[in-house]
Amino acid sequence: MPIDPTLPYDDDNIFAKILRGEIPSNKVYEDDWAFAFEDINPQAEVHTLVIPKGRYVSWDDFSTKASDAEIGGFVRAVGKVAREKGLVEPGYRLLANIGAHGGQEVPHLHVHLFGGQALGRMISG
Ligand code: AMP
Repeated sequence: MPIDPTLPYDDDNIFAKILRGEIPSNKVYEDDWAFAFEDINPQAEVHTLVIPKGRYVSWDDFSTKASDAEIGGFVRAVGKVAREKGLVEPGYRLLANIGAHGGQEVPHLHVHLFGGQALGRMISG
């Protein structure tokens, strides 16, 4: 079920629980601003999720309310994860789903990092 990205942050969402260590994850990176872990249902050879540590529902919420330090730290972390996975030279794709039309299911901002193969067209259907 897609989420409503205009609702307040829900501290019981699954990624909040992963950040608090209440649910296990396959962690690949962590710093002051971001946490990255493998998607439980990978859609490509590489499918990693990068999330900010702050309480932000979506890209809209984050880009409106996050500090410049949070935004800078998060963007740098996404790039670092991609570099550490060796994805820069072959290329990769970033995706953030927002709300119903985007198909967002978890109400904590996450960027999907896809790679390890040719990724085809940007939008299916
Ligand atoms: P989205 O549709 O953009 O909200 O994507 C949510 C993503 O979270 C999906 O790709 C799911 O496979 C992934 N996901 C859901 N629960 C977990 C979990 N416990 N650990 C890792 N990935 C998860």
